[in-house]
Order: sequence, then C-alpha cells, then structure tokens
Amino acid sequence: MMENVEREFIKKRIAPCGLHCGKCFAFTEGDISCHSTELKKSLGNFEVYAQRFVGMLDEPVFAKYPDFKEMLDYFSVASCQGCRKEKCKLFKTCNVRACSEEKEVEFCFQCSQFPCEHTGFDEHLYKRFVTINKRMREIGIEKYYEEIKDVPRY
Ligand code: SF4
Ligand code: SF4
Repeated sequence: MMENVEREFIKKRIAPCGLHCGKCFAFTEGDISCHSTELKKSLGNFEVYAQRFVGMLDEPVFAKYPDFKEMLDYFSVASCQGCRKEKCKLFKTCNVRACSEEKEVEFCFQCSQFPCEHTGFDEHLYKRFVTINKRMREIGIEKYYEEIKDVPRY
C-alpha cells in the first residue's frame, strides 16, 4: 500500500518523459511557486520602501524592484498540476504523454521503442530525455527520485 502511495506521489512529479514537473516554475505545488508566494508575503508593501531606498540608501538596484515583483507575482500563480493531469504548458510540441498512454507505459524507458524519434522534442530536450530514462532504467524510479528530488531543474 505504502509503495503505491509513494509511486503515485512520484508519478505526479515525474512526467512520462522523465522531466521533473515538481521543480518546474509552472507546477502548483512546486518549490518555485511556493517559495515565491512566501517571499511575496514576507515582502509585504516593499514597493513603497524600494522607491525610498533608491535615494535614501543610494542603491539604484531598488529601482528595479517593480520588475522583480512582476516576476515574483508570475511565479507565485503557477497553475499546472503536472504532465499526467494536463497538457504541458511549456512544450507544446510534446507527443510523449499521449504516446505513453497509448503504449500503456508509466515512463518511456519501459517502452520497447525507447529511445524513439517521435517525442516532438528539440535536440536539447531529446538528449535530456534519453539520459534521464537510461538512468531511471538503471536504478529504478524510487531511487532515481531520491537522487534528483532536490536538484534544480534549470
Ligand atoms: S506538465 Fe509541463 S508545465 Fe506542467 S509542471 Fe510539467 S513541465 Fe511544467
Ligand atoms: S514510443 Fe517513444 S514517446 Fe512513445 S512511449 Fe515509447 S519511448 Fe515514449
């Protein structure tokens, strides 16, 4: 039972292609979104002070605060539930999720056609796809997740 719960937890975070949705900026429960929301709370009405600090502290960097805040606002409203629940908002040409469902595999390395040529990925992503899946095949999903769970995706 515990194993199933763990597997489902991992599957929510690791897409069939192997990419780590859990570290994606668009993932609702991801670190980037959660930390951005926390930072927003901690900053309160900082924009008022940022303007004052430009002159008061003679620190021109504070003039850039509105841009920083815009980015923080963007990160904090992440809305993706992960690849298996919805269509990826980043890789619009991705064929993997639909294909993995058709082939009835949880991850591409379990597929007899891996590494196939119709992922829809660009060269950079394709290389990551192959490397990740080979590693998952080598050590298993649970160990792979332990290995990468705290590693930034970018
Ligand atoms: S499905 Fe795409 S947009 Fe959504 S969390 Fe995963 S990588 Fe990010
Ligand atoms: S055919 Fe390719 S994209 Fe589809 S499940 Fe197999 S390895 Fe993944």
